[in-house]
Amino acid sequence: MYDYIIVGAGLFGATIAYRAKQQGKKVLVIDKRNHIAGNVYTENVDGINVHKYGAHIFHTDYKDVWDFVNSLVEFNRYTNSPVARIGNEIYNMPFNMNTFSKIWPDVFTPAEAKARIDEERQEMAGKEPKNLEEQAISLVGRSIYEKLIKGYTEKQWHRDCKDLPADIIKRLPVRFIYDNNYFNDRYQGIPIGGYTKLVEKMLEGVEVRLDTNFFDNADEYRKQAKTIVYTGMIDEYFGFKYGHLEYRSLRFETKTLDEENYQGCAVVNYTGHEVDYTRVIEHKHFESTESPKTIITFEYPDDWDDPKKEAYYVINDAKNNELAEKYRALAAKEKNVIFGGRLAEYKYYDMDDVIKKALETEI
Ligand code: FAD
Ligand code: UDP
Repeated sequence: MYDYIIVGAGLFGATIAYRAKQQGKKVLVIDKRNHIAGNVYTENVDGINVHKYGAHIFHTDYKDVWDFVNSLVEFNRYTNSPVARIGNEIYNMPFNMNTFSKIWPDVFTPAEAKARIDEERQEMAGKEPKNLEEQAISLVGRSIYEKLIKGYTEKQWHRDCKDLPADIIKRLPVRFIYDNNYFNDRYQGIPIGGYTKLVEKMLEGVEVRLDTNFFDNADEYRKQAKTIVYTGMIDEYFGFKYGHLEYRSLRFETKTLDEENYQGCAVVNYTGHEVDYTRVIEHKHFESTESPKTIITFEYPDDWDDPKKEAYYVINDAKNNELAEKYRALAAKEKNVIFGGRLAEYKYYDMDDVIKKALETEI
C-alpha cells in the first residue's frame, strides 16, 4: 500500500513527492510520458540543454520557493530579455524606453514616451476595455499594439484580438525605464545543467514508473494508495462528464546548425503574421553554453484538437472558466484525491506558482 500515488512527474507532482519522501511516506510517481519533469523537461543534446517543451525561465517573488529550488540545484543569473521581430525590424521587450524610442525616433525621455502613448490612447478615452485589443490600446496605444501584440496574440490563440479576454495582456510589463528585463520578480535564473536535474533531485529515492497512464488502471491505483495526487487534465479525470475544456497546443521544430550564434539571444518573438511561428528559441544562450554548433527551435501555436497532442495552455475565457469551476467543485468533493498543477486546476500557472502551491498543499 502506498501513502501516495502521484499522477504526473512534472513540478507539482515532483514537489509533492519530495515532501512526502521527507516525511518518510511510501510514494509512487507515474507518468504517461517516457521521461520525468513534465513540461520543464530539458534534454542534453551535444552539450546543449534543450528545453523540449518551449523556453522556460524561472522567476519568482516567493523567497520560500527560491530557497527551495536553490537547496536542490544551483541557478545561474540568466535574465530574460527577449527581442521582438516584425518583418525586418527588431524591438526590445517587454515594452520599455528602448522599445518606445525605436518605435518613435523622436522620443527620448519617459515624459515624451508617456505623452506619445497618451495621445494614442485617446481613442479609448472614457471607455472600459472589453477585449484584448481594447485593453492593449488603452495600455500602450495602437502603434505598439499593431506591431508587437496583435499578430503574436492572434497566432498564439488563433482568435481575433477582439474576441479574446483582456486579462491575457496584463501579464506583459510596461516600463518607462531603459530596462529589457522581461520579469518584475526579485529572483530569476536557469538551473545550471537544466530543469531535468532539478526534478531528478526532487525524485531522488522515489519509485517512478514512466510510460504509465493512470487511466489504463485507475481503479487499481486507487486501491493501492491512501491518497492519489492528480496533475493531469481535470476534465479527463471526470470522464469529460460536463463536456470538454479547451486548451491550446504547440508544435516544435528543432534544428542543429553548424554556426556558433544564430540570433544572439535565447528568445526572439515573431510578432507579425508573415511567419506562422511565434518564437525561435536558441537554447545555448540560457546557460551561455560554449559550442561551435547551435540548436534552435521554432515554436508554432497549434489547435488542441487531438488527445495525442499535448495540452500546453489552458484558455481562461468566460466559457472555459465556468466549465472549469464545475469540475473544480467535483474535485473538491472527491475523497482522498489532491488535484494540483496547471492542468488539474485549469490555471495559467508559472513554475513558481506550481511549486508554491505544492509546498503549501496539506499532505
Ligand atoms: P506538467 O509539467 O504538465 O506535468 C504534468 C505531468 O502529468 C506531465 O508530465 C504529464 O505527462 C503527466 N500526466 C498527465 N496526465 C497523465 C495521466 N493520465 N497518467 C500519467 N501521467 C499523466 N513557467 C515559468 O515559470 N516560466 C516560463 O518561462 C514558462 N514558460 C513556459 C513555456 C511554455 C511553452 C509552456 C507551455 C509553459 C511555460 N511555463 C513557464 C509554465 C510551466 O511549464 C508550468 O507552470 C509547469 O510546468 C506546470 O507543472 P505541472 O506539474 O502543473 O504540469
Ligand atoms: N504577447 C504579445 N507579444 C509578444 C509576447 C507576448 O502580444 O511579443 C502577448 C500574447 O498575447 C501572449 C501574452 O502576451 O499570449 C503572454 O505572453 P508571455 O510570453 O508572458 O506568456 P507565455 O506564452 O510564455 O505563457
